[in-house]
Amino acid sequence: MIRIPRALLVTACLLCSFTPLSAQTKPVAWDTLARESQTILADYLRINTTNPPGNEFLAARFLKGILDREGIEAQILDTAELGPNRANLYARLRGNGAKRAIALVHHMDVVPATPSSWSIDPFSGAMKDGYIWGRGAIDMKGTGIAQLMAMIAIKRSGVPRTRDIVYIGNSDEELTSTGGLVFVSRHPDLLKDVEYLLTEGADNRVENGKVVYFAVGVAEKRTFWQRLTVNGVPSHGSRPTKENPVPRLVAALYKISQYETPLHVTPGVDKFFRDIARLYPEPQRGRLANVTAALNDPQSREWILSDVWWNAFLRNTISLTGLAGSNKTNVIPGVATADIDVRLLPDQDPAAFLETLKVVVGDTAVHFTTLLQPKTPLESPINTDLFHAIERAAHDREPSAFVTTPMETAATDRPTYRRLGITTYGFSPFLIPRPEIQRGMHGNDERLSVDNVGYGVHFLYDILRYAQ
Ligand SMILES: [Zn+2]
Repeated sequence: MIRIPRALLVTACLLCSFTPLSAQTKPVAWDTLARESQTILADYLRINTTNPPGNEFLAARFLKGILDREGIEAQILDTAELGPNRANLYARLRGNGAKRAIALVHHMDVVPATPSSWSIDPFSGAMKDGYIWGRGAIDMKGTGIAQLMAMIAIKRSGVPRTRDIVYIGNSDEELTSTGGLVFVSRHPDLLKDVEYLLTEGADNRVENGKVVYFAVGVAEKRTFWQRLTVNGVPSHGSRPTKENPVPRLVAALYKISQYETPLHVTPGVDKFFRDIARLYPEPQRGRLANVTAALNDPQSREWILSDVWWNAFLRNTISLTGLAGSNKTNVIPGVATADIDVRLLPDQDPAAFLETLKVVVGDTAVHFTTLLQPKTPLESPINTDLFHAIERAAHDREPSAFVTTPMETAATDRPTYRRLGITTYGFSPFLIPRPEIQRGMHGNDERLSVDNVGYGVHFLYDILRYAQ
């Protein structure tokens, strides 16, 4: 970045109608803002947006109320398209228009919680033992509030804005993503000036209270679920026949289970392994520093693929998950089906993969049906203003930590927005130890530390400021 002397900037701005970049910025009272953000998050967690049915309209109204009070224009959208008590939320804080906008996106719905498995009411928003408890604290109402309060802090403090900041709350991410899909298809006009978008899709790595790395998700696997069907002739189980569809299906599934998908290193994954190499001693360090070469060496390959995450970063994966034949032991069924969870690397051709799978099975009696079409491929560029802003804000906090780019193996709403050409990143502003993510996210006793709330607001505030 070239630093321009302030005097020059002021002179330049006399010639244009933009807010001068030298405008006075008011200091932020971070402790007060953190407490305010904690209270708002607790209130947000009390709104039960379990999906199904969602009821995100209540959440949208809650967020709009806060935005209205701050004088930030906000709209509740898509109520007719999304169905009863559902909605998307959209807000925009204007900049001077010199650069394109940044969008902060979260989903307002949460997955179901089983209260009997929790040590506290999952919709209490209780503050206890240094945590704010509730379904959605991590996934992802906590991030939604950190985004909201960072945007509000930018406005209150009068940080000069060259970019608009767009704030979006979507419905239904946890089930079928209709919120994001409807928003993108109905409101491309609201997104046409958006250059960057931040939402979920990567977690910072913290160990023993220390940041190992900050993570920006630039890529995600593409879900390509398949159902295999074999038809047969129903008959009595006491007299085995060749028309029993079950053994035929089982033979196909066995072949799939033995099939090893090719290994393939995508750019973001290559960077991820090069970045984390420094955390390991030799010979692991050398292997990770050049993962493509390491995958050609049997011993190195075995070590790398023994990590279930790394294995998923490096290939298309297939998990055999659902199976259905007869529901009576003495009846040969007329049909047998199996569902398989296929996840493709972002740069793979789904049709070609399906053809390969059919060759692997080698039985035309096995029919394939696509249950879920893959979303738009997601592999975002790294050399951007926003990525550099994240690096700078991360470095402010932990000079010894680095920013890297793990792949998301599950699915988010990012590809839906990527379709419009927006550079989308997965970014969490919090420092949450892995066991807490593992336990809380879609599990029980989901909670976010009180300290994380203020940390996340400040982190996002700095990123938004540096990206101007
Ligand atoms: Zn989520």
